[in-house]
Amino acid sequence: MDCLFCKIINGEIPSKKLYEDDLVYAFYDINPQAPVHFLVIPKAHIESAAAIFSENSAVISHIFEVIAALSKELALDDGFRVVSNAGKHGAQTVKHLHFHVLGGKQLSEQIC
Ligand code: AMP
Ligand code: ZN
Repeated sequence: MDCLFCKIINGEIPSKKLYEDDLVYAFYDINPQAPVHFLVIPKAHIESAAAIFSENSAVISHIFEVIAALSKELALDDGFRVVSNAGKHGAQTVKHLHFHVLGGKQLSEQIC
């Protein structure tokens, strides 16, 4: 499948890996929008937050466990933001479900 994040998962495209297990992959965003900006993605190709169903949703709780663990590892003790853009109006550019984790500074109160 011609998917950038599937290629990152299988090593075809290099990434700065933070964490990996059977279900998920976490890596630094190539164009950081905050001092700490990483992405957590399911290894299974799920197109977006609009394609989560009871059959594939177990990975979502696992992703949030990984986010919590990485936030501690990266000392985001003062907080962070989790964002998932979906579809055209959400300005999603990579069509593989991903959760942005942003932190390391005071983020603005506006959306994203
Ligand atoms: P979105 O706009 O929500 O679809 O986010 C896609 C994100 O993927 C953007 O923040 C990009 O900077 C990031 N990105 C694109 N290509 C790569 C790459 N090769 N390695 C790491 N992050 C990437
Ligand atoms: Zn994919």
